[in-house]
Amino acid sequence: MTDRTDFAAKARELDEADPLGDYPDRFLPTDDDIVAYFDGNSLGRPPAVSAERMDHFVRHQWRARLVRGWDDEWLDWPTAVGDRLGKAVLGAAPGQLVVADSTTVLLYKLARAALRTRPERREILLDTDNFPTDRYVVEGIADEHGLTLRWIETDPDAGITPDQVANAIGPNTALVVFSHVAYRSGYLADAAAITRLAHETGALVLWDLSHSAGSVPVELDNWGVDFAVGCGYKYLNGGPGAPAFAYVNDRHQHTIRQPVQGWMGHRHPFTMGPGHEPASGIRSVLSGTPPVLGMVPLLSGVELLEQAGIDAIRAKSLLLSDFALELVDAWLSPLGVRLASPREHARRGGHITLCRADFDVVNEELRRRGVVPDFRSPDGIRIGLSPLSTRFNEVYTGMATLAEVAAARRGRTVPRREE
Ligand SMILES: *Cc1c(COP(=O)(O)O)cnc(C)c1O
Repeated sequence: MTDRTDFAAKARELDEADPLGDYPDRFLPTDDDIVAYFDGNSLGRPPAVSAERMDHFVRHQWRARLVRGWDDEWLDWPTAVGDRLGKAVLGAAPGQLVVADSTTVLLYKLARAALRTRPERREILLDTDNFPTDRYVVEGIADEHGLTLRWIETDPDAGITPDQVANAIGPNTALVVFSHVAYRSGYLADAAAITRLAHETGALVLWDLSHSAGSVPVELDNWGVDFAVGCGYKYLNGGPGAPAFAYVNDRHQHTIRQPVQGWMGHRHPFTMGPGHEPASGIRSVLSGTPPVLGMVPLLSGVELLEQAGIDAIRAKSLLLSDFALELVDAWLSPLGVRLASPREHARRGGHITLCRADFDVVNEELRRRGVVPDFRSPDGIRIGLSPLSTRFNEVYTGMATLAEVAAARRGRTVPRREE
């Protein structure tokens, strides 16, 4: 690693030139036991204001307003926060997003709602490398309703392509369910083209935006997307178990019925009358009492995204992963490490995955040294580079440590997994 000082200098230059360079300071600092956090795409770091906002909410809103808080404003939070999220990072006009539940639950609700509008069609199109919960939920629905699943075999180093969709979709396809950014490879799907293809055959699309919201530009309205869901605790920095979001395009809002008919999705929740009458518009996606406490830190995450702007965030995200790839080529490829992610900007999301047979052990050693990536079985170390909270110097430090550990183990890379 003779070029270490050059790369350290480059990291410093990149940090100095970074227009979002002061954003990492707007997050609560990590303790000294962490030198590089590469998992902000799994659990984003806490914005500093979240601590004060939580405290303030408990002391002033909850304590003082008590049950009156619901009428004051809390009942409006699911759509109010949804609208801000839609405007800041999802390309959605107001009235099409709610914040509620979890991604898993919203995926179920919207998939069921979509299928109900295409009763004559009996197939759901999905891919083998989608995030587990997406596959499991769709499998459950198919099982319950006697529908057929049509699986596209995805290359785990890449993701879902329009060609694959064109070959698999047909007149019997009711719904397609894909991730916009693949959780493993970081592959950024061509959501506009795939949505168009689906519509040409009369199918509906449901995008999972968990790994794209807050990291890559999303244009739900312009792409003509039908439905979308995504997590609040990844690039949105809403905190562990933060509520998720759901998008229903205006054109579907008066025709869909989602299956979890709770009182909060009722037209008049407080008349408490017989029979469910869905609220008009996006509120019909709600089921039970909104997770108000969870929306307090989520809103401070959304505020940071509003201030930074998604185009600047994406520009930094690409610079971060470009720099990481430069270090991979210089230090890790010679050690037999394989890149399992796309290189081209147009197809690269906010994270990359690196593979070697012994990376499960390498990952444990990294964590001992304060570098925290994510491990993806069987042999992938996922480097998530959350643009608002990550410095280039942190990329340098983390990748240098990875290179050291990987080099020290060289020669001991006998495949350990025979089972
Ligand atoms: C993280 C993630 C989820 C998680 O769903 P939860 O209901 O929050 O557990 C779902 N889908 C994708 C694509 C994800 O990346």
